[in-house]
Amino acid sequence: MTDRPVPPPFMWACRRCADLLIDIATATALSTEHDLYDGTVRCQLMLAGHLAAHHLDAIPEPHTDCPRCDFYAKQPDRQHFESLWAEHRARDLFLPAEVARLM
Ligand SMILES: [Zn+2]
Ligand SMILES: [Zn+2]
Repeated sequence: MTDRPVPPPFMWACRRCADLLIDIATATALSTEHDLYDGTVRCQLMLAGHLAAHHLDAIPEPHTDCPRCDFYAKQPDRQHFESLWAEHRARDLFLPAEVARLM
């Protein structure tokens, strides 16, 4: 697995982002010790959801080579998918690319 990206400064400036980043680090450490622990995914979802809701301006542009972005872009009622799509792209900010694009 490649290294995690360094989260942009605005995330450390936001209390909620910073808390969730720390939660993810803790959860990741726990998941290496306990096979059934699934807190990491839950924390990732919470952070992506928070980014889409509160930092929409900072979310990266759609990927040009990504089946998921392709899918969202083709939906006739894009508004319906707007936040899901934003959450997908938000994952780039704090996860390695190959993990970020899984959801
Ligand atoms: Zn935030
Ligand atoms: Zn994508």
